[in-house]
Amino acid sequence: MFFVVACVVLLLLAASVAVAGTPKRVMIVVIDQMRPEYAKQYDMTNVLWLQSHGIDYNKAYVGDMASETVVSHNVMVSGQFPKHMGWSDEAFRDVDNLFAFGANKIVTSGDLGYLDYVKLIQAAGNYPKLGDYLHKKFPGTIVANVGQKGYQVESMAAESSDFWVRMGSKKVPGTVNSDGSVVPSIPGLPGNYRGPSGKVPGYIKTPPLPQNPYRYYISSGNSSTNTSLGFIPPADYYGTKVDKPAWLYPEDGRYVPSPYTRNLSGDIWVADAAMAMMEKEPWSGMFITLSAMDKIGHMWGGGSVDNLQNYTWDPSSMFNWVHMPFAAQNADAQLGRIIAKLKELGQFKDTLILVTADHGVQDSANGYYGTDVYDGANAGGWYAGTWSYPGAANNTNPGPVSIKPLMDTGNVEFSYQSVAMETWLKDWSWAKKVDAAQVMGTLPGIIATYVKSEDGDSYVLQSASTSTPMTSAEMDWWQLHGQELVDTMAWKGSADVVGLMQDRVSYAAYGDHGGAQMQVQRIPMVFYAPGMQSLTRGTKFRLVDIMPTVLRTMGIPQMAPMDGTAYNLPIK
Ligand SMILES: [Zn+2]
Repeated sequence: MFFVVACVVLLLLAASVAVAGTPKRVMIVVIDQMRPEYAKQYDMTNVLWLQSHGIDYNKAYVGDMASETVVSHNVMVSGQFPKHMGWSDEAFRDVDNLFAFGANKIVTSGDLGYLDYVKLIQAAGNYPKLGDYLHKKFPGTIVANVGQKGYQVESMAAESSDFWVRMGSKKVPGTVNSDGSVVPSIPGLPGNYRGPSGKVPGYIKTPPLPQNPYRYYISSGNSSTNTSLGFIPPADYYGTKVDKPAWLYPEDGRYVPSPYTRNLSGDIWVADAAMAMMEKEPWSGMFITLSAMDKIGHMWGGGSVDNLQNYTWDPSSMFNWVHMPFAAQNADAQLGRIIAKLKELGQFKDTLILVTADHGVQDSANGYYGTDVYDGANAGGWYAGTWSYPGAANNTNPGPVSIKPLMDTGNVEFSYQSVAMETWLKDWSWAKKVDAAQVMGTLPGIIATYVKSEDGDSYVLQSASTSTPMTSAEMDWWQLHGQELVDTMAWKGSADVVGLMQDRVSYAAYGDHGGAQMQVQRIPMVFYAPGMQSLTRGTKFRLVDIMPTVLRTMGIPQMAPMDGTAYNLPIK
């Protein structure tokens, strides 16, 4: 009898410990474009602390294509491969004419807004997202997103978040709105500015006086200085508009903090807005994206970027803010502030924290086939052919000279180039797809070509003996992951022909992502909750596994099928 009672007591004890240890909140911090080795390389102490106290998947990878911001953010909170999401790339074929440009027109997903993503999610079967599960499990709680970019925040928020906060479009003081009112300037800023946009709580839109009602307005796009401020600020471009190769994707004030102490920009802006919502809202989900490192990586390339560009690190100069050592340290400092805020609010003890990235980045390109000039629309080389998005139908661009043989076939509707090539054809019959793949295989840096299968559900390898042979390292990675990755984006809207590229080849920015290469696929992935066992796991983990794993850790049953796997994160 005593034995039985003792067992019951032990079971009760175990159950109560398990309940106490089950997180009631989840915070996902996406450090856009962070490569896993940056944590040590740039001494990111808060990331390193989480890695040594939580469960660190040190071989994690994106696990899908296209490895891009507008795709990855929704993979994380849906558990769906891009092929099941409603958009699988920077562009898609609008087969069902959802956007009314005409059936089969190409629509660019990065140019869409919240309601457009809702439309796409509904057309893809209205799969539940993490916010839906959190609302169901914790009625009355708030789910919120915050980050610098519209497509990043709004694609992730649609349609299960209560708030989403991002930087709005640039306002030029003195211009006249459609209702006749004049856009005023913001006190303390030199001229052009951006304010918060999305679904923004009032205390972020206009923080109460005497705080600072203009806190979330930032200087953006100002090239002239304003000495009436009492100091001479650097232009919002920090020289990146004239520095090659940064000029292909220059800073404009959104990603570095700025010297305007009452209107700090960049990752500090994001952290401040996140902390305001953490303080005011009964939240269960907080999805935060810090984007400065992405901007820096695009401009200069990833990895040991500053050595490659002959850049001398000078911590005393504000111009160091547009280089990776500062961006990494600052992102980590914001993570530290957010964790401190969790503790201050008494939320740390029951919050599951995940720090990851939406994709990595290649080292600065040593095979560059884009258009290396600063001239706006034609710089880089991402978009070629004809495309549309709400408010702008039938944009055209010839693309970089290097893809001319492909464009000269006369059968390209649209082509997207980054560190992979994805091409939508006008005539996508089997023979025409094979023809296009053969031409694509002659372009520089292309190591393998694929055509979409007849049923549209996978890609068929066309050739791995193109004009560019793989190195043995590229061959090893490609054999493990090439087919796996391209198949994740196969659906009726995806490209007809796909080309994978060599490491360090780019057709757009010098530091880019979007493809299957190891450098753009490998990402950090660390989970932490108080009581979680500290473990390093070298096993498989992909972005698509986040959602089922978070649900399992929070004790929330799955309501719908997902492409990811639920891994067990033991909490003591
Ligand atoms: Zn990104």
